[in-house]
Formats: sequence, C-alpha cells, structure tokens
Amino acid sequence: MIRTVVCQRDGCSGNNFFIESIDNKLRATCRECGEKSDYILNDVGYYLVSSCNECKNEAFKLFVDTEKKNVFAKCVECGEPPEKIFVDEYGNQISSKERILNEVKEALYSVNQRMCNLEIKVENIEKGQGILEESLAYINRYMIESR
Ligand SMILES: [Zn+2]
Ligand SMILES: [Zn+2]
Repeated sequence: MIRTVVCQRDGCSGNNFFIESIDNKLRATCRECGEKSDYILNDVGYYLVSSCNECKNEAFKLFVDTEKKNVFAKCVECGEPPEKIFVDEYGNQISSKERILNEVKEALYSVNQRMCNLEIKVENIEKGQGILEESLAYINRYMIESR
C-alpha cells in the first residue's frame, strides 16, 4: 500500500516537504512547521537533489510503500521524482543518465574483452592447426622415406 507522508508534529497536517539527502537517509523538512524527520532510503549509493529537475520547485510530497518499506518523493508541482545523483567509482557525482551511460560503456568494454579473448583463442587454434599440419607432413615424409 502507498501512503502519503504527513508531518509528524502534533497538530500539523503538512504534506509538503523540503528534502535533502544525508548519508543513506532522506531528511524531510515540513514546509509548514519546519519539523524534520528522517527516512531510510533502501537503495544506497546515491543522494537526491533537493529541487525538481523539471520545474525547479523545491517542495515534494513524500510517499511510503508499506510493503517494500521504502520512501519516495514526487514534486508537488509536476509530479516528477527528484533527480538522483550517484557517486561513481572515482568519487565523481554523476546523474542517473550518466550512470546508465557508464554501465553501457562497461558492458561494451566487457564485450570487447570477450571478443579479444575469442580472437586469441581462434589464433591459438590456427596455430595448433599449423603444428598439426606440419606434423602430418613430417609423418608423411617419414613414411615415404622409410618405404
Ligand atoms: Zn509540520
Ligand atoms: Zn517539478
């Protein structure tokens, strides 16, 4: 079940929040009363941008998926989720698009590696065949000479 997150302070029913990522947590600040609450983010390795990538708005509604036990945010203006910023293996901050590109690059690289390995194997087979042919020629000659 998806539940809308409402401010936890007694008497406040605010459901618009400023968001920021702190470690693996999402810190939500109620726009009405300033109450802060932290939510654990299930996926690690990224943090959320505090303003909407589409409309630059800084207020988000928060939702909790009670089955998956995770929290997610949507811009109150346009409904877009906040952009995720990932940190790559070199410690650079990259967007999710760049991350996908990196993954594609890695996949291509490993395909390339495999192609190289295959080429080496084919070369070895060709070499092996050469040796075999030489041996056969040698045996042939030996048999002819020993007749
Ligand atoms: Zn509040
Ligand atoms: Zn927006």
